[in-house]
Amino acid sequence: MTARLHISLASSLLAGARDLLFPAFCLGCGCPLPTGSLPLLCPDCRGSLIFGRSPCCTCCGLPFAAGSDHLCGHCLRNQPGFDLARFALHYCGPVPRLIQDLKFHGLTTPLATMACLVRNSGVARHLAEPDLLLPVPLHPARLRRRGFNQSLLIARACFPRWRSRIDPDLLIRRRPTVPQTSLTGTSRRRNLRGAFALYRDRRLDNRRVLLVDDVFTTGSTVRECVAVLRRAGAVRVEVFTLSRSL
Ligand SMILES: [Zn+2]
Ligand SMILES: [Zn+2]
Repeated sequence: MTARLHISLASSLLAGARDLLFPAFCLGCGCPLPTGSLPLLCPDCRGSLIFGRSPCCTCCGLPFAAGSDHLCGHCLRNQPGFDLARFALHYCGPVPRLIQDLKFHGLTTPLATMACLVRNSGVARHLAEPDLLLPVPLHPARLRRRGFNQSLLIARACFPRWRSRIDPDLLIRRRPTVPQTSLTGTSRRRNLRGAFALYRDRRLDNRRVLLVDDVFTTGSTVRECVAVLRRAGAVRVEVFTLSRSL
Protein backbone atom coordinates (compact mmCIF):
# COMPACT_ATOMS: atom_id res chain seq x y z
CA MET A 1 0.00 0.00 0.00
CA THR A 2 1.43 3.39 -0.96
CA ALA A 3 1.98 6.19 1.54
CA ARG A 4 -0.62 8.28 -0.30
CA LEU A 5 -3.26 5.55 0.09
CA HIS A 6 -2.41 5.28 3.80
CA ILE A 7 -2.92 9.02 4.21
CA SER A 8 -6.25 9.08 2.34
CA LEU A 9 -7.50 6.04 4.32
CA ALA A 10 -6.46 7.69 7.58
CA SER A 11 -8.14 10.97 6.66
CA SER A 12 -11.44 9.29 5.70
CA LEU A 13 -11.34 7.34 9.01
CA LEU A 14 -10.74 10.60 10.84
CA ALA A 15 -13.60 12.29 8.95
CA GLY A 16 -15.86 9.35 9.86
CA ALA A 17 -14.89 9.61 13.54
CA ARG A 18 -15.45 13.40 13.45
CA ASP A 19 -18.94 12.94 11.95
CA LEU A 20 -19.82 10.44 14.71
CA LEU A 21 -18.43 12.52 17.55
CA PHE A 22 -19.52 15.95 16.29
CA PRO A 23 -22.66 15.61 14.19
CA ALA A 24 -22.91 18.44 11.69
CA PHE A 25 -25.80 20.82 11.21
CA CYS A 26 -26.73 23.08 8.33
CA LEU A 27 -25.53 26.61 9.07
CA GLY A 28 -28.47 28.01 7.13
CA CYS A 29 -31.48 26.24 8.65
CA GLY A 30 -30.05 24.08 11.44
CA CYS A 31 -31.14 20.71 10.02
CA PRO A 32 -28.80 17.73 10.66
CA LEU A 33 -26.28 16.89 7.93
CA PRO A 34 -25.01 13.36 7.16
CA THR A 35 -21.35 14.48 7.09
CA GLY A 36 -19.26 17.43 8.20
CA SER A 37 -17.89 18.11 4.74
CA LEU A 38 -17.88 21.68 3.54
CA PRO A 39 -19.91 23.71 2.91
CA LEU A 40 -22.02 22.98 5.98
CA LEU A 41 -25.30 23.55 4.15
CA CYS A 42 -28.20 21.19 3.38
CA PRO A 43 -29.28 20.66 -0.26
CA ASP A 44 -32.14 23.20 0.11
CA CYS A 45 -29.85 25.92 1.49
CA ARG A 46 -27.21 25.16 -1.16
CA GLY A 47 -29.95 25.40 -3.78
CA SER A 48 -30.90 28.89 -2.61
CA LEU A 49 -27.37 30.29 -2.95
CA ILE A 50 -26.85 32.76 -5.79
CA PHE A 51 -23.24 33.33 -6.80
CA GLY A 52 -22.01 36.61 -8.28
CA ARG A 53 -21.76 35.98 -12.04
CA SER A 54 -21.59 37.63 -15.44
CA PRO A 55 -23.32 39.47 -16.99
CA CYS A 56 -22.48 42.20 -14.54
CA CYS A 57 -21.14 45.76 -14.30
CA THR A 58 -17.50 45.77 -15.36
CA CYS A 59 -16.75 48.08 -12.44
CA CYS A 60 -18.98 47.45 -9.43
CA GLY A 61 -20.11 43.89 -10.27
CA LEU A 62 -23.84 44.71 -10.18
CA PRO A 63 -25.50 41.71 -11.85
CA PHE A 64 -27.66 42.12 -14.97
CA ALA A 65 -30.51 39.81 -15.95
CA ALA A 66 -29.20 39.37 -19.50
CA GLY A 67 -26.75 40.74 -22.07
CA SER A 68 -23.02 41.11 -21.71
CA ASP A 69 -20.76 42.81 -19.16
CA HIS A 70 -20.85 46.63 -19.35
CA LEU A 71 -20.75 49.66 -17.03
CA CYS A 72 -23.97 50.07 -15.00
CA GLY A 73 -25.80 53.40 -15.01
CA HIS A 74 -24.61 54.24 -11.51
CA CYS A 75 -20.93 53.72 -12.33
CA LEU A 76 -21.38 55.71 -15.57
CA ARG A 77 -22.85 58.66 -13.67
CA ASN A 78 -20.62 58.56 -10.57
CA GLN A 79 -17.09 57.23 -10.76
CA PRO A 80 -17.08 54.98 -7.68
CA GLY A 81 -13.38 55.49 -6.95
CA PHE A 82 -12.42 51.81 -6.97
CA ASP A 83 -11.13 50.05 -10.08
CA LEU A 84 -13.19 46.93 -9.52
CA ALA A 85 -15.60 45.52 -6.95
CA ARG A 86 -16.65 41.89 -6.85
CA PHE A 87 -18.67 39.78 -4.43
CA ALA A 88 -19.05 36.03 -4.02
CA LEU A 89 -22.71 35.63 -3.05
CA HIS A 90 -26.00 37.48 -3.18
CA TYR A 91 -27.26 38.42 0.28
CA CYS A 92 -30.05 35.82 0.29
CA GLY A 93 -30.77 32.20 1.28
CA PRO A 94 -28.44 31.09 4.10
CA VAL A 95 -25.95 33.95 3.57
CA PRO A 96 -27.47 36.54 5.98
CA ARG A 97 -27.47 33.92 8.74
CA LEU A 98 -23.85 32.94 8.07
CA ILE A 99 -22.79 36.59 8.33
CA GLN A 100 -24.96 37.40 11.34
CA ASP A 101 -23.78 34.30 13.24
CA LEU A 102 -20.20 35.43 12.72
CA LYS A 103 -20.75 39.13 13.28
CA PHE A 104 -23.25 39.29 16.12
CA HIS A 105 -22.94 35.90 17.82
CA GLY A 106 -19.17 35.53 17.49
CA LEU A 107 -19.45 32.06 15.94
CA THR A 108 -16.39 31.24 13.86
CA THR A 109 -17.85 28.00 12.42
CA PRO A 110 -19.25 29.82 9.35
CA LEU A 111 -15.76 30.95 8.27
CA ALA A 112 -14.72 27.60 6.74
CA THR A 113 -18.05 27.38 4.89
CA MET A 114 -17.68 31.00 3.70
CA ALA A 115 -14.15 30.25 2.43
CA CYS A 116 -15.42 27.14 0.63
CA LEU A 117 -18.23 29.13 -1.03
CA VAL A 118 -15.80 31.88 -2.07
CA ARG A 119 -13.57 29.21 -3.65
CA ASN A 120 -16.59 27.72 -5.45
CA SER A 121 -17.66 31.17 -6.67
CA GLY A 122 -14.37 31.60 -8.55
CA VAL A 123 -14.46 35.32 -7.68
CA ALA A 124 -10.73 35.48 -6.86
CA ARG A 125 -9.73 35.00 -10.48
CA HIS A 126 -11.22 38.43 -11.30
CA LEU A 127 -9.08 40.17 -8.70
CA ALA A 128 -5.62 41.56 -9.43
CA GLU A 129 -2.89 40.29 -7.12
CA PRO A 130 -2.72 42.93 -4.37
CA ASP A 131 0.28 44.21 -2.43
CA LEU A 132 -1.95 44.80 0.56
CA LEU A 133 -5.26 43.43 1.84
CA LEU A 134 -7.07 45.86 4.11
CA PRO A 135 -10.18 44.82 6.01
CA VAL A 136 -12.75 47.60 6.52
CA PRO A 137 -12.00 48.56 10.13
CA LEU A 138 -14.30 48.88 13.13
CA HIS A 139 -13.99 51.77 15.56
CA PRO A 140 -11.78 50.67 18.50
CA ALA A 141 -14.74 50.94 20.91
CA ARG A 142 -16.82 48.57 18.77
CA LEU A 143 -13.83 46.28 18.25
CA ARG A 144 -13.42 46.03 22.04
CA ARG A 145 -17.11 45.21 22.49
CA ARG A 146 -17.23 42.66 19.65
CA GLY A 147 -13.76 41.24 20.27
CA PHE A 148 -12.93 40.81 16.57
CA ASN A 149 -13.34 42.44 13.19
CA GLN A 150 -15.44 40.16 10.97
CA SER A 151 -13.88 41.62 7.79
CA LEU A 152 -10.41 40.66 9.01
CA LEU A 153 -11.58 37.09 9.76
CA ILE A 154 -13.19 36.89 6.30
CA ALA A 155 -9.99 38.18 4.63
CA ARG A 156 -7.88 35.58 6.48
CA ALA A 157 -10.27 32.70 5.75
CA CYS A 158 -10.98 33.52 2.11
CA PHE A 159 -7.52 34.60 0.90
CA PRO A 160 -5.08 32.23 2.65
CA ARG A 161 -2.45 32.67 -0.07
CA TRP A 162 -2.39 36.44 0.54
CA ARG A 163 -2.52 36.13 4.31
CA SER A 164 0.89 37.72 4.86
CA ARG A 165 -0.29 40.80 2.95
CA ILE A 166 -3.21 41.51 5.31
CA ASP A 167 -2.63 44.60 7.43
CA PRO A 168 -5.42 44.95 10.00
CA ASP A 169 -4.04 48.13 11.58
CA LEU A 170 -3.31 50.38 8.61
CA LEU A 171 -6.79 51.58 7.73
CA ILE A 172 -8.46 52.94 10.85
CA ARG A 173 -11.92 54.18 11.79
CA ARG A 174 -11.22 57.33 13.73
CA ARG A 175 -14.69 58.14 14.95
CA PRO A 176 -17.64 55.95 15.88
CA THR A 177 -20.51 55.86 13.36
CA VAL A 178 -24.12 54.82 13.63
CA PRO A 179 -24.70 51.36 12.02
CA GLN A 180 -25.28 52.01 8.30
CA THR A 181 -28.28 49.67 8.19
CA SER A 182 -30.28 52.16 10.28
CA LEU A 183 -29.77 55.01 7.76
CA THR A 184 -30.82 55.94 4.24
CA GLY A 185 -28.64 57.14 1.29
CA THR A 186 -27.69 60.75 2.12
CA SER A 187 -27.43 60.18 5.87
CA ARG A 188 -25.25 57.12 5.21
CA ARG A 189 -22.74 59.28 3.36
CA ARG A 190 -22.87 62.05 6.02
CA ASN A 191 -22.47 59.45 8.77
CA LEU A 192 -19.23 58.18 7.23
CA ARG A 193 -17.65 61.42 6.02
CA GLY A 194 -14.14 61.63 7.45
CA ALA A 195 -14.67 58.45 9.46
CA PHE A 196 -11.67 56.61 7.98
CA ALA A 197 -7.95 57.41 7.82
CA LEU A 198 -4.61 55.70 7.47
CA TYR A 199 -2.60 55.07 10.62
CA ARG A 200 -0.17 57.97 11.08
CA ASP A 201 -1.10 59.23 7.59
CA ARG A 202 0.95 56.47 6.00
CA ARG A 203 1.44 56.65 2.22
CA LEU A 204 0.44 53.89 -0.21
CA ASP A 205 2.26 55.19 -3.28
CA ASN A 206 2.19 52.69 -6.15
CA ARG A 207 0.57 50.00 -3.96
CA ARG A 208 -2.27 47.79 -5.21
CA VAL A 209 -4.84 47.41 -2.48
CA LEU A 210 -7.68 44.95 -1.99
CA LEU A 211 -10.28 46.23 0.45
CA VAL A 212 -12.32 43.48 2.15
CA ASP A 213 -15.74 43.76 3.77
CA ASP A 214 -18.61 41.43 4.65
CA VAL A 215 -21.53 43.03 2.78
CA PHE A 216 -21.79 45.60 0.00
CA THR A 217 -25.11 47.40 0.40
CA THR A 218 -25.09 50.92 -1.05
CA GLY A 219 -21.31 50.99 -1.25
CA SER A 220 -21.01 54.12 0.94
CA THR A 221 -18.60 52.49 3.41
CA VAL A 222 -16.43 51.16 0.63
CA ARG A 223 -16.41 54.52 -1.21
CA GLU A 224 -15.26 56.38 1.92
CA CYS A 225 -12.43 53.90 2.48
CA VAL A 226 -11.44 53.97 -1.20
CA ALA A 227 -11.22 57.79 -1.17
CA VAL A 228 -8.74 57.57 1.74
CA LEU A 229 -6.66 54.93 -0.08
CA ARG A 230 -6.62 56.99 -3.27
CA ARG A 231 -5.55 60.15 -1.45
CA ALA A 232 -2.69 58.15 0.06
CA GLY A 233 -1.46 57.27 -3.45
CA ALA A 234 -2.76 53.71 -4.01
CA VAL A 235 -2.34 52.96 -7.69
CA ARG A 236 -5.09 50.35 -7.85
CA VAL A 237 -7.94 49.73 -5.44
CA GLU A 238 -10.20 46.71 -5.74
CA VAL A 239 -12.97 45.66 -3.39
CA PHE A 240 -14.03 42.21 -2.33
CA THR A 241 -17.16 41.65 -0.29
CA LEU A 242 -18.40 38.24 0.73
CA SER A 243 -21.88 39.28 -0.23
CA ARG A 244 -23.89 41.98 -1.95
CA SER A 245 -27.39 42.98 -1.03
CA LEU A 246 -29.48 43.93 -4.08
ZN1 LIG B 1 -30.32 24.21 5.42
ZN1 LIG C 1 -21.49 49.51 -11.61
